[in-house]
Amino acid sequence: MPPLINETGNVYGRLMVIERASNDKHNKPVWLCQCSCGNTTEVKAMNLRTGHTRSCGCLEREIHSETVKVAQMFKVEKAAEKRTRGDVVWIDGGHGYISGYWPEHPLGNGQRVYEHWHNFWIFNDAAEWVLSAKEIGATIHHINARRGDNRPENLELRWPGLHPAGWSTDDIIRVLVSQGYRVLPPE
Ligand SMILES: [Zn+2]
Repeated sequence: MPPLINETGNVYGRLMVIERASNDKHNKPVWLCQCSCGNTTEVKAMNLRTGHTRSCGCLEREIHSETVKVAQMFKVEKAAEKRTRGDVVWIDGGHGYISGYWPEHPLGNGQRVYEHWHNFWIFNDAAEWVLSAKEIGATIHHINARRGDNRPENLELRWPGLHPAGWSTDDIIRVLVSQGYRVLPPE
């Protein structure tokens, strides 16, 4: 048996060796260590010297939670990147609808704009009538019922029941349809 190395006072990672503990079941030396987090823990001498054990377990937990955080950030960034058009980052607000921070957007609320409105508008060559339609309460319907699917072919304008004085809904729809727009009457 090799001579026992006195580890008292040695520091391994976050651990400082306090005193000898009972040998393990294979009769190998074990040391009681003080971890910098405040816990104490018993560690086999070999695990200290090989660097296998560097804390009471708190270091591993911290590394794990940092890793999870980084992984989550990475995922968020990847998703955001996919949705970036220009400088706008499109995100799901939690209700399934995607919006982006775009204070000066004519279809926004001064802060954010919904991606379905933006896409519908762009698809229709940024037409003025889309702005008017939204102003008087038109909504955008997601054809496949998936609120995050904002491909233009999944979007249809639902004309509101209300409209400005002097406009008849039928007139509006007739004009829009004649211009090649897809417009559905209100449900
Ligand atoms: Zn610890």
